[in-house]
Amino acid sequence: MEKLIEKAEKTHSLTRDELAALLRCDDETARKLFAAADRVRAAFVGDDVQLRGLIEFSNHCRNNCLYCGIRRGNRQAKRYRLDPEIIIAHAAAAAKLGFKTVVMQSGEDVWFTTDRLTHIIRAIKDMDMAVTLSIGEKSYEEYKAYRDAGADRYLLRIETTDKDLYHRLDPEMSWDNRRRCLVDLKRLGYELGSGSMVGLPDQSIESIADDILFFKEIGVDMAGIGPFIPHEQTPLANAKGREFVLSLKTMALTRLLLPDINIPATTAMETLNPNGRIIALQSGANVVMPNVTTGEYRKMYELYPGKICVNDTPVHCRTCIESKIRAIGRSIGTGKGFRGEYLKKRQ
Ligand code: SAH
Repeated sequence: MEKLIEKAEKTHSLTRDELAALLRCDDETARKLFAAADRVRAAFVGDDVQLRGLIEFSNHCRNNCLYCGIRRGNRQAKRYRLDPEIIIAHAAAAAKLGFKTVVMQSGEDVWFTTDRLTHIIRAIKDMDMAVTLSIGEKSYEEYKAYRDAGADRYLLRIETTDKDLYHRLDPEMSWDNRRRCLVDLKRLGYELGSGSMVGLPDQSIESIADDILFFKEIGVDMAGIGPFIPHEQTPLANAKGREFVLSLKTMALTRLLLPDINIPATTAMETLNPNGRIIALQSGANVVMPNVTTGEYRKMYELYPGKICVNDTPVHCRTCIESKIRAIGRSIGTGKGFRGEYLKKRQ
């Protein structure tokens, strides 16, 4: 096992079987794996932690993914959408707090037409901030319009590369279309973010190895990996999920294989462990996305239960995470944190 970790640290490549073996490793080996991922993170992307301000701007969704708390079929979910001018005000507040990127995330809400979205993107770009979108599957033309308006990055998790599992988790959606979206986004010159959930019902270890190889194949610039947490108001209420260590291993192996990408310490990790994001930052992650949504909306954007910080303010979240980051001897990134910047620094 140690030989495999060494190989990954030096060559940044492992086979599917080798990845699977490490995903199954014991706690002592896992500690070595996390330490190796931490070294590779330090060598390739440095000690800066990149902060992105997350605006959860609508929980209306036309989709019905079995795992997700804001699925169309969840009648108990209280729905909201922020007015475009309110979203722009959230971004201005984030800029004031020192964020250089905002991530606009929502369900697939058709109220947000291309015109409305491009208006918002342009207004935020005028504040000299990077804009990341995480608003689901769209057409090439729509992605192009957002890009032309100035959007820099796009996050669209593949969720799982096991096609059959993907279709069981959402019989209405098409895995091939999700992949098509990622290819289109890459072609349009976005910094591409994808990612996966770990601990889905009937997800095999081999398929998690495939997820990591998929990130490499599709050429992601960012990979967000988080544990699946069952939501009581969904058909998967009784599933097990909550695989903290396995998620951490997946994330660490992703760092070893894709040494210079951005990897967030995900909020779902902190939901399972009160120190989850810091542990992730010490196991390969270099990005945190503090919530800058205000008031009651935080609670209403409930993808999974037990979401952290639902009663906190943007200022509180920013200060809180900043002091935790400094306490482990890491610094806060002052730029926009594009992957291209790390590549340039190493040349
Ligand atoms: N509509 C957008 C944003 C989705 S929400 C899109 O389709 O990309 C962001 C992510 O939350 C999803 O991609 C999924 O990976 C994650 N998520 C949803 N439900 C979850 C759950 N029950 N547990 C953990 N993560 C979940």
